Formats: sequence, structure tokens, C-alpha cells
Amino acid sequence: MKKEILLLASFFVLSSSQLISQNNIDEFLKNQPIIDVHVHITKGYSDNEEYNKVNVDIDIAKIEWMRQRLDQNNIVLALGGGPMKYAKLWQQMDKRYWAGPRIPCNPLREQDEPCESELPNLKELDSLYKNGRLKYLGETSFNSMGIHPADERFNPYWELAEKYQIPIGFHADRGPFKRNMEETPNWNEAYANPILLLPILEKYPKLKIYLMHYPGSYFNECIEVMKKYDQIYCEMTAVTMFAPKERWEPRIKKLFEEGLGERLMFGSDYVGTIRKNIEIVYNLDWLTEDQKRDIYYNNAAKFLELSEAEIQTHHKMVE
Ligand SMILES: [Zn+2]
Repeated sequence: MKKEILLLASFFVLSSSQLISQNNIDEFLKNQPIIDVHVHITKGYSDNEEYNKVNVDIDIAKIEWMRQRLDQNNIVLALGGGPMKYAKLWQQMDKRYWAGPRIPCNPLREQDEPCESELPNLKELDSLYKNGRLKYLGETSFNSMGIHPADERFNPYWELAEKYQIPIGFHADRGPFKRNMEETPNWNEAYANPILLLPILEKYPKLKIYLMHYPGSYFNECIEVMKKYDQIYCEMTAVTMFAPKERWEPRIKKLFEEGLGERLMFGSDYVGTIRKNIEIVYNLDWLTEDQKRDIYYNNAAKFLELSEAEIQTHHKMVE
């Protein structure tokens, strides 16, 4: 009995202090635009009770529900990859998305449906990039598909991305560790190692790549690649949500010690976790306010080379 009361008491203390910190975050976020560099674009799932009543068309329902999530969290721009069909639809329906194909897509993976061919039609992609109907390439799935990143089948895509300066999200961690082996029978975690990008970057030195899940297992390799190429940035999703803070926080500190903190960007990765990821950045109490605002917005604005006019528009969107 005593134990239960104690537990209740500690729960109360925790929840009231949590409330204060929530208020602090809300105050901090006022007029603060945020760029989310890691969204997964997918079909709508009819069994998802969060949004399956939002619209009779389940695909549209997901987009509309996501629109609310972006609105609520000051997201003014989001980089997202997925099946071509949905990448085009999402960017068309909400101009905040810079969308593009997951590369390569996996015909066995439900999240990638529809995936008619692993690589998108080159001519179509060229024209979509050229007229701005798509503006993204990623997330890469070399590890989950078991294909080496430097496989020459990808060369024309690197060439295209370099030509149009399309941002590329490279999955740079061994995880996720909960995986469906039926969907990914050829999984090879070694192909998420960003070192494997070096020969590609030698050939296409202006590729605008950012390394996803920086503080994960390949953090040293991430640093090595970022030091070689000024335009390579990174983000900190998933690892920061699932791994113990003692493991990943020193790696974020190391990034700053190495002088690369100005290349760290905000992302959410898992659907419905934008707020959670905002809190993870906010709760790094050794960061200055400016550094937090840089992670939420300014670093990505630099990476994406946004114009002054675009930056002004983004600030107006959250006034
Ligand atoms: Zn990933």
C-alpha cells in the first residue's frame, strides 16, 4: 500500500514539473519556424485510428491529418520521401513538402506501396525535378535492401540530384533494430556506413547529402565525411528517441566540439512524433537558445540554400 502511495506522489511531482517544461517549450516556440528534414511519405492505412475518419479517401485522410500536425508544430517545410505516386500527391496537396522517391523502393515492403520498379523512371524524374514538382531524394534504403550505395545503377540518380541540387537523405545507422525480415531478406547494415559515400562524392562532389540518425552507430564515420565535404549535413532522429540519452548525448556534444554543430538539423522520422522530437532538442540544456533555433530552422535553411524571401515567408507563417 505504502509503495503505491509513494508511486502516486512521485507521479504527481513528475507531471507538474513536466507541465512547467511544456509551458517553457511553448513560450520558446512562439514565432519559431521549424524545418522537419525527415518525414516518411506513405499511403494511408485504413486501420490507423488517428486519421481514418478524417476523410473517406484514406490517402487524403493521412495528408490532412499530417497537415494538422505540421500546423500545430510550426513546421514550415518538410523533406519527405516515399513511393513516387504519394511523393507527387503530398507535395501537390501541401506546398510545405519537398518530396521525392525513396531510393531504392522495396516491392516487398508495405510502406513502399506502390513500388512498381525499385528505381524511378529517369526521364520522368528529370522532368519532375526540373519543373519543381519534386524536390527531394531519399530516404536511402541501401542497408535494408542489401545494395551497396556505390552500385553503378544509382549513378544516373546521383547525376540528376547533383544537377538540380536536390537534397538527399542518406540512412546512416545500423538500425532500425525491430525489422520485418520477410520485407527485408537481404538486410546488410554495413551499407548504411556513410564512408561508402566517399567514392560517390569523389565522382559527384557537389551532391547535397545529409546523414540521417547521426548519433547512431556510425557517428565517427559521419564526422569524417562531414569534415571532408562542407555541404554534408546531418540530423539526429530515431536514435535520440529510442536509445538511452547517455549513449547519444555525448555524440551530439562531440559534433559541436568538432565544429560541426552548425550542420545539425531537426527531424521527426516516426509519424506523430514531431512534438516529441522538438522536446528532445529543447531538453539539451547545454545548448544555447540560438543553437536550438539553428537546429530547428537556420541550419536546414542554410543546407537547402533558402532565399531571404523564403525565410521571411517562413517566419510570417508562424506569426
Ligand atoms: Zn532512417
